[in-house]
Amino acid sequence: MLRYGRTLCGLGAGAALRGPTGRRGLLDGGRARGVSTSWSPVGAAFNVKPQGRRWDLLGERQGLFGVPELSTPEGFHVAQKEALRKTEWLVERACTTPPGPQTVLIFDELSDCLCRVADLADFVKIGHPEPAFREAAEEACRSIGTMVEKLNTNVELYQSLWKLLEDKKLMESLDAETRRVAELFMFDFEISGIHLDEEKRRRAVDLNVKILDLSSAFIMGANFPNKIQKHLLPEHIRHHFARDGSYVVIDGLHAEASDDLVREAAYKIFLYPNAGQLKCLEELLSSRDLLANLVGYPTFSHRALQGTIAQTPETVMQFLEKLSDKLSERAAKDFEMMRDMKMKLNPQNSELMPWDPPYYSGVIRAERYNIEPSLYCPFFSLGACMEGLNILFNKLLGITLYAEHPAKGEVWCDDVRKLAVVHESEGLLGYIYCDFFQRANKPHQDCHFTIQGGRLKEDGSYQLPVVVLMLNLPHSSRDSPTLLTPGMMENLFHEMGHAMHSMLGRTRYQHVTGTRCPTDFAEVPSILMEYFSNDYRVVSQFARHYQTGQPLPKAMVSRLCESKKVCAAAEMQLQAWQLRFSHLVGYGAKYYSYLMSRAVASMVWKECFLQDPFNRAAGERYRREMLAHGGGKEPMLMVQGMLQKCPSIDDLVGALVSDLNLDFETFFMDSK
Ligand SMILES: [Zn+2]
Repeated sequence: MLRYGRTLCGLGAGAALRGPTGRRGLLDGGRARGVSTSWSPVGAAFNVKPQGRRWDLLGERQGLFGVPELSTPEGFHVAQKEALRKTEWLVERACTTPPGPQTVLIFDELSDCLCRVADLADFVKIGHPEPAFREAAEEACRSIGTMVEKLNTNVELYQSLWKLLEDKKLMESLDAETRRVAELFMFDFEISGIHLDEEKRRRAVDLNVKILDLSSAFIMGANFPNKIQKHLLPEHIRHHFARDGSYVVIDGLHAEASDDLVREAAYKIFLYPNAGQLKCLEELLSSRDLLANLVGYPTFSHRALQGTIAQTPETVMQFLEKLSDKLSERAAKDFEMMRDMKMKLNPQNSELMPWDPPYYSGVIRAERYNIEPSLYCPFFSLGACMEGLNILFNKLLGITLYAEHPAKGEVWCDDVRKLAVVHESEGLLGYIYCDFFQRANKPHQDCHFTIQGGRLKEDGSYQLPVVVLMLNLPHSSRDSPTLLTPGMMENLFHEMGHAMHSMLGRTRYQHVTGTRCPTDFAEVPSILMEYFSNDYRVVSQFARHYQTGQPLPKAMVSRLCESKKVCAAAEMQLQAWQLRFSHLVGYGAKYYSYLMSRAVASMVWKECFLQDPFNRAAGERYRREMLAHGGGKEPMLMVQGMLQKCPSIDDLVGALVSDLNLDFETFFMDSK
């Protein structure tokens, strides 16, 4: 009945495969001339180093995220004990309350009570710089996890929900959101086989345990470096890799290396088939299949896709095959272009090999569009980008971001900023903690974490959503604020899209708060923000040189946008290497989600915002039809509400493909 830990991290296709499109050169003109531009409050909060925070030391130390118990690592133990105690009381209440809307409320409170500790701990265990906090959080996750397992197999609890779902008349009397949440709770229950007879139930529990173990083994194997004795590698390329005694360690594809042989060696060694890993994957797939069959689905993907935009594996296959079909001609041209480039640079060895495309497409992009990131960085100071987001949210949604001083002990690192998200008439909507800067041992992934979900409390007040955005931006230097590459700027907009989904998903139940929605819908709000970040009318509102205040020239934005279409068809068709593809676990049967979300976002952009990216009416509709519901409404109904039509597979495929069309204005401008 319960899930937690649904963190949204960059889905491979965007984050892992895109990579930087060029070298990151040194910043030109970085002589200390100081900052000559003045920033708005939110801009200043990110561009100007906080000074005089000494006064913090005087105040009383509060807990992490303002949770009083969490001022020390030991506090996790207190919080988790309290949560478990309340859980028992709520279970008792659920089992003794007659079926009705109250049942769903109690279940949601139960879920909230456990998630509030588990979600927070889920972040702290990887995000906190102090090992003692990380370990305490890990322990809290484990103990809540055990409790969740126990609840998922609690027959009495299951029956209290079952009695509600069985009573058709009663169900019909509930509003749509409550009905959906009741069904979602049941859906999570059933994977433990709780509705089956004793023997089958035991098998389901065993399979669940086995799947968990296989999943973590597979993820480990997917990231595990391969070693090779150094004498087996040509001497002149050895220095490209890490060394371990007489071995060379290959920990990735080195896809951007300019030496063909380095890429070839990395590709062949890193992807060398590993029998153990293959066996692990095969066992994982068959266990999933067995479990799905056992709980009543024809395949694992049928179960995984229930409630998504796509709904069935057949629709997904149709979508992917049609897309691949539509892309094949363009992809062939892309490969031809890469081959030509390789021929030009390397006439003796010009056949295009599997380890070549990312590198040569990068070369073509750089040669054709001159998009050296260091030319762009000075215009994308972090403060400027935050101002841009503030302007956009203000115009579209009437929302302002205010930088607040966190209390002492409230944040886990001094450079974390806290934003209050405030609506012009509704007031405070929630908080975003911005953990944006690199530090030792911080995971190298841009992520959105839900710390506390929004929900309507029994006393009528609204529990405010709290999230963390984690990025890996460089620190400011003595001479300049943090400067973002275009890719980092786009990622910042993407992650803020998730955060706004969390802030504006004003659901009654925390079980479906903000981003707690089907996977193929979850990336729609974030990818939509990428479209805004690539539009000159939006970019021109904020991109200005941090020293001179000079705006970013329009031609530079157009060139950047056009460069992204280079070899994009080939990239979209790229297949993953199954033994190294850890997303097979987190996105099991749902990796298509990224493309489907992009297709929907593309349609929303074109139909609702392309004409005027600051249109308030469109912004309000977007909030009302899509963001407000979190996961509390059938995703296709939300899409339909927004687009005022139900998109067909052809519409979705068409939207993705048309994004690759070259813009003739830029083309002519450049060929002049
Ligand atoms: Zn995302």
